[in-house]
Amino acid sequence: MYNYRAPRRELQFVLHEVLQAAQVLTTLGRPDINEELIDGIMEEGARFSEGVLSPLNASGDWQPPTITDGVVTASAGFKEAYRLFREGGWTGMSADTAVGGQGLPALAHIPVGEMLCSAAMAWRMASGLSEGAIAALTRHASEDIKARYLPQLVSGEWTGTMCLTEPQAGTDLAILRTRAEGAADGSYKISGTKIYISWGEHDLTDNIVHLVLARLPDAVAGTKGISLFLVPKRLEGRANGVSCLSIEHKMGIHGSPTCVMSFDNAQGWLVGKEGGGLACMFTMMNHARLGVGLQGLGISERALQASCTYAFERLQGRSVRGPQAPDKNADPIAVHADVRRMLLTQKALTEGERLLAYYTYMLEDTEQLAPTAPERERAGLLLALLVPIVKARLTESGVECASLAIQVHGGAGFIRDTGVEQYLRDSKITCIYEGTNGIQALDLLGRKVLANGGESLKLINAEIAATLAADMPQSLRSWATLLQLALQEWAELTRLVAERVAKDPDELGAVAVDYLHYAGYVLTAWCWLKAAMVASLKLGATKAEAPFYEGKLMAAQFYFERILPRTLSHAAAVRAGVASVPILRAEQLCG
Ligand SMILES: Cc1cc2nc3c(=O)[nH]c(=O)nc-3n(C[C@H](O)[C@H](O)[C@H](O)COP(=O)(O)OP(=O)(O)OC[C@H]3O[C@@H](n4cnc5c(N)ncnc54)[C@H](O)[C@@H]3O)c2cc1C
Repeated sequence: MYNYRAPRRELQFVLHEVLQAAQVLTTLGRPDINEELIDGIMEEGARFSEGVLSPLNASGDWQPPTITDGVVTASAGFKEAYRLFREGGWTGMSADTAVGGQGLPALAHIPVGEMLCSAAMAWRMASGLSEGAIAALTRHASEDIKARYLPQLVSGEWTGTMCLTEPQAGTDLAILRTRAEGAADGSYKISGTKIYISWGEHDLTDNIVHLVLARLPDAVAGTKGISLFLVPKRLEGRANGVSCLSIEHKMGIHGSPTCVMSFDNAQGWLVGKEGGGLACMFTMMNHARLGVGLQGLGISERALQASCTYAFERLQGRSVRGPQAPDKNADPIAVHADVRRMLLTQKALTEGERLLAYYTYMLEDTEQLAPTAPERERAGLLLALLVPIVKARLTESGVECASLAIQVHGGAGFIRDTGVEQYLRDSKITCIYEGTNGIQALDLLGRKVLANGGESLKLINAEIAATLAADMPQSLRSWATLLQLALQEWAELTRLVAERVAKDPDELGAVAVDYLHYAGYVLTAWCWLKAAMVASLKLGATKAEAPFYEGKLMAAQFYFERILPRTLSHAAAVRAGVASVPILRAEQLCG
């Protein structure tokens, strides 16, 4: 079983050396968030993640929460960890200071968010969902509701949930059935069943604030008839018609209770406008989707660490170049070229995509804090473009890296004791919830690329062009050329798809996933070029840190030579288009 080690040096590289987060935050009016403060927050988060949370990852997996007579008891140790988290003031990191939060910009608190996901993702979901509820209420709730519920959510005294899914309504929320009826006192009575509700019931806190999508009696059909309601589990000390009917048995994230929730004439209050429920949810979707991308990254990081430890400890066979550990009866498996391939794949995906994710969080800060409206608008367009890419690419990489970690471990990876197989089981859900990755791809291609006439693509192209035009060592020029060629092909694919979609709307869904991965791999290449530019400069200047920067350049080379070419097959799939996925009858597919 491996303990998690927070990647402090790596996070400093990303934040301070490549993104120059403190300088950016100063230009955004937050000079108080300097490098020292960012490092201080990171260090405290690292201690909590390594010392308190990391050991709970496996124990929560082995001993999931239990339910007795509707009462859900969290996995052993989870409640105590939550108490420590609350006492440490972590629950209000991102919330406004006006409601008792710390008002930290994303670049200052996201490293801690990543560490929590790596250390114990199932546990982290409870506080992550509360952050989503806080964001939704801050943006859309009446002053009265804010005053009654935000302080307890921000202090962590209560947690929050998101109740969207119903048995017949998953991706298609337009057909949800939960009903809300207005009462004389201005509140509403909510009735219906919600399924798959993460942390819908538990004993970490005395109360739980549910944000529930429901339909009013006279609501129009479809998404415009859906409203958002706040429904507390307990109201003025008494039960409020909310109960947990059962908890699911599932593939992974065992430590997170996934609940079937029943609302039986529960008293609730409208958040936002009648019929504006989905719009309220959409405003917090960027944040929630990036949060799931961060879960994928958290798992990739943990898997990389386990692979690295094992590959340099496990002795099997001899290097084809002659013994590398002649004093032992075999060499560490890290000497074998195929194992090196697996390790570098994990490093190149994890670290490149981390840069992409943190760059995207920088856009979130810019959208909120930039002094002028055009700057905020520009950041908002870029952010909207990148969110589905970060969500889908980082979660798919989480699965790939977790699977590679098992492969590096051989049989030991398949056996429960090493703990590595848990990473794979935990990772899969990140590709499904908060909008499946297929839906992310439709969002990217349909809304963020084609519907805005390629406006956002022009902006990201300008960002990449600035990097390509910058001074860089001659040794990096060949990678810059590969990036330039991929950008040209990306533009060509976009034109092709736009023409075809105009003739046949089915074309969009047929190519969207390949289009998303194409875009994701190209953007990560851009991130690796930026990282390599920094690493090349620093390498000559430091002896002590030479291995760190050498590792960066090795991973960048691997990325350009072995990962970026994945775009070739995605481009071929996009070109093949809808003709390659004809309408099927069941008997044609499975006889
Ligand atoms: C462990 C877990 C925790 C969860 N936590 C929560 C929670 O806290 N709150 C909450 O409300 N929900 C939660 N969910 C629900 C989750 O968000 C849904 O499972 C997800 O949105 C997919 O919906 P579905 O399962 O009904 O799949 P479906 O919508 O039935 O989709 C099945 C497949 O069809 C594809 N598909 C569906 N429609 C289309 C389309 N129009 N075009 C192309 N492809 C399509 C999908 O991409 C997918 O591959 C959770 C689920 C799980 C398993």
